[in-house]
Amino acid sequence: MMLQINFAVTAPMNLRSQMINLLKSMNIWLRQAPLCHSIPERCFVYKNRHLPICARCTGILFGGISSLIFFNIFNLNFSFQTSFVLAVPMIIDGGLQYLNYIISNNNRRFLTGLFCGIATIIFSQNMTLLLLRFTNI
Ligand SMILES: [Zn+2]
Repeated sequence: MMLQINFAVTAPMNLRSQMINLLKSMNIWLRQAPLCHSIPERCFVYKNRHLPICARCTGILFGGISSLIFFNIFNLNFSFQTSFVLAVPMIIDGGLQYLNYIISNNNRRFLTGLFCGIATIIFSQNMTLLLLRFTNI
């Protein structure tokens, strides 16, 4: 009887602690990955903690994942030109910030990153279709 109660009480705690450990290790991995600078001022804050990636990379990830799901559900295809047009705002915003002409804010970084994430998926879709056409698979 005591064993059953212990199991019922400790099983969710173990799963919870395992999930926390998994998230902590992902957080450490993302912070150490050379993909993003993770400057705290450029990251979103949730419950007084900075997200492991910056606002722009959060936008790129969110735009990429959501457009991948959205495009496949509704079977949407866009042209190469659309991907270039969607990538331009991030190139301008990031470029001007890099050259110290403007100081961007996190909302603008997220929005331009979101467009660039969508552009990446559109570009990848078109490249895949182009390669399939040439290889006759
Ligand atoms: Zn970043």
